[in-house]
Amino acid sequence: MTYLFETEEHAALRAQARRFAAEHIAPHAARWEEDEEFPVELYREIARTGLAGVGYPEEVGGSGGDLGHMLAVAEELVLAGTSVGAVVGLGSHGIAAPPIVRFGTPEQRRRFVEPVLRGEQICALGVTEPGGGSDVAGLTTRAVRDGDHYVVTGAKTFITSGCRADWVLTAVRTGGPGHGGISFLVVERGTPGFEVSRKLRKTGWWASDTAELAFDGARVPVANRVGPEHGAFPMIMSNFAGERLMLAGQCVAIAELAYREARRYARERVAFGKPLAGFQVIRHKLADMATRIAAARALTGEAAVRVNRGAPAPGLCAMAKNAATDMCSAVVDEAVQIHGGMGYMRDVVVERLFRDARLYPIGGGTREIMNEIISKTEGY
Ligand SMILES: Cc1cc2nc3c(=O)[nH]c(=O)nc-3n(C[C@H](O)[C@H](O)[C@H](O)COP(=O)(O)OP(=O)(O)OC[C@H]3O[C@@H](n4cnc5c(N)ncnc54)[C@H](O)[C@@H]3O)c2cc1C
Repeated sequence: MTYLFETEEHAALRAQARRFAAEHIAPHAARWEEDEEFPVELYREIARTGLAGVGYPEEVGGSGGDLGHMLAVAEELVLAGTSVGAVVGLGSHGIAAPPIVRFGTPEQRRRFVEPVLRGEQICALGVTEPGGGSDVAGLTTRAVRDGDHYVVTGAKTFITSGCRADWVLTAVRTGGPGHGGISFLVVERGTPGFEVSRKLRKTGWWASDTAELAFDGARVPVANRVGPEHGAFPMIMSNFAGERLMLAGQCVAIAELAYREARRYARERVAFGKPLAGFQVIRHKLADMATRIAAARALTGEAAVRVNRGAPAPGLCAMAKNAATDMCSAVVDEAVQIHGGMGYMRDVVVERLFRDARLYPIGGGTREIMNEIISKTEGY
C-alpha cells in the first residue's frame, strides 16, 4: 500500500529508493547492525542518486519535492534495506538541515547544507541534554558572547549521527531563562573545546551512531548563528512537524516490513500438518496488522498533506506520531509472536524491528508530550 496522495512521481522515487537499498544496504544490514556503524561512503553513494536531496529545494543542491516524497523514499529504504539504523543515520540531515534552509543566510546554506546534500559532510541536531529533553525551553547549555564569538559550555546527549558529524546544529542558551533565551549555533567538528564524550549503546537502531557531546569553552563564530539571537525556539518547534511525521512514516514502514515478514513466514511454516496461515487465529492476526497499518498510514498521510499545504497542524502531527508508534509497537510484537522462537533470534528481521520500534514513543517528542500538544490544540 502507498499513501493516498502519491502520484507516478512518487512511484518512480520509490523504485529508485528500492533499487538503492536492495543494492547498497540490504546485503550488509545484518553486519552493520552488529558493528553499530555503516560506512561513511554510503552518504556519498546515496547523495549521488539524488535521494538524499529529496525534499530540499534545488537552490541548495536538493532534488526538490516535499514531505510526501520524503515519506515515500524513507519507506522504501526501510522496506528494501531492512536496517532502520542505517536509514536514520543516513537521514540525520532531515532534522539538522531544514532550519538552515529556512532561516539561515545564503552563506550558511552554501557552507553547511550544500556539502551535506552532496554527501561530503554529515550533520546532526543537538537539542536534548543530559538534564532533560522534553522541556526544551529549560535547556542549560550556555553560550556567552565574546566579541565575534560565542563561548559554549554544556552537554548534549542522544544525538543521532553525533559521533561522525562534521557539524551539529546546537540549541544553546544565549539569553535569560525560558523559551525566549535560546539560539541556534552550528558547532563544527574540530572546534577546540568541543568533543564527542561518548558513543552510546542502545536497544535498537544499532547501525546509527548516537553521541553524547561535551562543550567546554568552545569558541563558535557569531557567523555560525542561524536566525536571530534568542530566536531559536520557534525554529525548533516548527522543525518538529516534519520530524514527527517522518518518525510516523518510519513506524508505518517498520510495521509494513514486519507484516510482510510475518505473512511470508505464516505461509511457509508448517505446524500440525498445515501452514500457520491455515489457522484462522493467525490469519486474523495478520488481518488486524494490515488494518492497523492502513489506519496509521491514512492519518500520517493526511497530516503530511496539511503540512505540505502550509498548515503547521501540530496537534494532527502529534496524533499521527502517537497513532503510528502505538500501531508499530503492536504490529512488530505480533510479527515476533507469529515467528515463534525464531522471532526472538538475532539476525531475524522482526527481532531487529521489535527493538527498533521501542524508540518511537520516546524520540522526537515522547508519547506524553504528544498528548500535551494534543491537549493544547484541542483546548482542554
Ligand atoms: C536513539 C535516540 C536518538 C535521538 N536522537 C536525537 C537527536 O538527534 N537530537 C536530539 O536533540 N535529541 C535526540 N534524541 C532525544 C529524544 O528526543 C529525547 O530522548 C526525548 O525528547 C525525551 O527526552 P528525555 O529522554 O530527556 O526524557 P525526559 O524529558 O526526561 O522524560 C522522561 C519521561 O517523563 C515524561 N515527561 C516529561 N515531561 C512530561 C510532562 N510535562 N508531562 C508528562 N510526562 C512528561 C516523558 O514523556 C518521559 O516518559 C534521541 C533519543 C534517542 C533515544
